[in-house]
Order: sequence, then structure tokens, then C-alpha cells
Amino acid sequence: MTEVQQQIEIQPLKPAVQPVNLLGLDRAAMEDFFTGIGEKKFRATQLMKWIHQQGVVDFQQMNNLSKDLRTQLAEHACIKNLEVAKDQLSIDGTRKWLLRLPDGNHIEAVFIPEDDRGTLCVSSQVGCALDCSFCSTGRQGFNRNLSTAEIISQVWLAAHLLEEEKKPGRKITNVVMMGMGEPLLNFDNTVQAVRIMMDDFAYGLSKRRVTVSTAGVVPAMDRLGDVIDMRLAVSLHATNDALRNELVPVNKKYPLKELMAACRRFINKQNTRSRITFEYVMLEGVNDRPEHARELIKLLKGIPTLMNLIPFNPFEGSGYRAPSRNAVSRFSDILHKAGMTTVVRKTRGDDIDAACGQLAGKIEDKSRRHRRFAEPRFGMEQ
Ligand code: SF4
Repeated sequence: MTEVQQQIEIQPLKPAVQPVNLLGLDRAAMEDFFTGIGEKKFRATQLMKWIHQQGVVDFQQMNNLSKDLRTQLAEHACIKNLEVAKDQLSIDGTRKWLLRLPDGNHIEAVFIPEDDRGTLCVSSQVGCALDCSFCSTGRQGFNRNLSTAEIISQVWLAAHLLEEEKKPGRKITNVVMMGMGEPLLNFDNTVQAVRIMMDDFAYGLSKRRVTVSTAGVVPAMDRLGDVIDMRLAVSLHATNDALRNELVPVNKKYPLKELMAACRRFINKQNTRSRITFEYVMLEGVNDRPEHARELIKLLKGIPTLMNLIPFNPFEGSGYRAPSRNAVSRFSDILHKAGMTTVVRKTRGDDIDAACGQLAGKIEDKSRRHRRFAEPRFGMEQ
């Protein structure tokens, strides 16, 4: 054997190239993929229609592609969805899926039907690092970001499984990224997923029907406004820094003054009809008093606002209680009278733990918050 032959002999085998999961490619990335394998760009829209609109995941069924191309796709690519570990239907029509990721982690997606819309709430991360004190997801700590394919798979599966129901009103008309995780801390994958949701060759949702929610990661809000036009929701929950530091700890890094300035900048970058949705979880004796409503009006002055009031949904060991009906209606009356568009969110899917803040289900409390908050916190003073 010559020296060269010997060298070849001892070369380690190249690791097999992972097939690309086409589920997670937006139009530009899909076009790059096709030009990369020597095909024309228009194949991208053909593939997107097959995957997202026809729900086809087997290349052999894509009958407007040549046999050669189908074989080539089977070699270089795949269309891989998450596995449904549990599928639950609430008596109010809310449907929740527990989805298993390839690494064994789990996430959840929830479909919430209403008279005039069907909203799918999707997750962006496994767990969450932001540790909001009233949130059951925050308890499991942060595990990892979801890939774009893992975010889109929630939409694909929900659309597919709802269609199988063959019932009127069971269609996704809106997507909110308000499930597990902080979407703006998984920025690139979130933006790419939103582009797929809004693409006419995929789900074709208008920019007013896709909402990304943030607890207030200010630099990422600025970046988001620069790259995409869609709805933004801000999880506010408190009207002053002292209380917000407690409820939404990321406030210590980006306090209310900076957050409100970022909201104004975001609105200025969007079209004139935009407004920001503010989420406000109402906790008895903590943030549900008339003076908080008045502080809220002052804080949001000049920002086009849709206010979502969310009466807290207690879960075991949360340390908080739901506000009284009186407190909620008194609070929303004050906002209404000040001219603020205000909606009191109904609790949905309570019997299947699908309501806000319950998404993590019965999970391990890695943050040990149950110990920190062993004492009940209702009636807490600021
Ligand atoms: S409320 Fe949202 S940002 Fe806060 S811990 Fe829960 S999932 Fe994370």
C-alpha cells in the first residue's frame, strides 16, 4: 500500500449530512435550498403549498414534481413533525396538544375557538428563563429554544388535526406566540416562523392576525420592528417598577420607562393602524385596585392600546389568588371611561389546564419558586 493509500485508509468517515427539515424554511430559505441542489427557485412555492396548504409530508405524493426531483428530495431533505403525546379537548371546545420533541422534551400548543375566530397559541421555547412570579411555565426554568420547524410544526399539526374534526368554526384564523417561552429570546427562529405563518403559499395569515408576545426585552423589540410588520403584545402586569420587578423580573434590566419608549418606537415603525396589546394578569390585592387602573392610564398615555385583562387562574402553590368579579369590573370600568379599548379575557380550557399560566402542567419546579413563595402573597403591599 502506498503512503497516499494508507492516508486514505485512515481518514475518518465523514459524518452523514443531516437532511434539511423543509417544514422550518421560509420562502427565502426554501429558494436557497432549491438553488443549492441545482433547481429553479419556483420549486420553493410548490413545496410550501404541498407542505403547509395540502398537508402532504411524503415527497412521493407531490405529483407536480419530477420523479428525479422527488428522489433527490428524499435524499437531501425531510418533512418532520413533532409527535403528539397527548391530545385533550375541553368542554368549552379548547383543544390542547402536548407535543414530544426529538430530544424527549415536551411543549404545548392550544387552540381556542371563539365566535368570530380560532386562535392558536404556540410555544417558542422549552421552559422560560424569565421567571415571572405568577407563571407556571417559568417554574420549570429554561431548557432550550425551539427550532423554526418545531414552532411551525405546532401550526401544521393543529391545522391538520382540526381539519380532521370536520366541524364548522374549527379553523386557525389567528396565531399568538404566547405559549411557553419568551419568543424574542429566540429571535431568529421566531421571525422565520412568523414569515411562514404570513406567507401566501403557506398559512397566509395577515399581519394583524399574528401576534408575538414579549415580557419586555427592549433591544429585541427594536430589532423586531425593523424586520417585520406584525402585532406585538407586551406582558405588562404592573404599573410601577417596584411591583413589576417583583412580578416580571426582566423589568430590573429594562424598566418601565425604557419599555414604554420601546413601545412608542415600535408603533412608529409600523403602519398607522397598529396598536399594541397589553396583557395584564389581575392578582387579588396585588395589582387589581382602582389606583393601579389609574396608574395604567397614565403609563400608556399616547400609545394606541388594546388592554387584555386576565383574571388570574390559580394553580397549586402559585401563592396568588384570582381577583373578585367586582374588582375586575371596577378596574375595567376605569379604563373604559378613560377611552382605553379593554377586554376581560374569559378563562378557557380550565378543565384541561390550558388556560393562561397553566401551560407547563404538572412540571418539575426547577426554580424552586414553590419554596420562595411558600407564604401566600395575596394582599401583598408594594
Ligand atoms: S409569563 Fe411568559 S415570559 Fe414570563 S415566565 Fe411565563 S412564559 Fe416566560
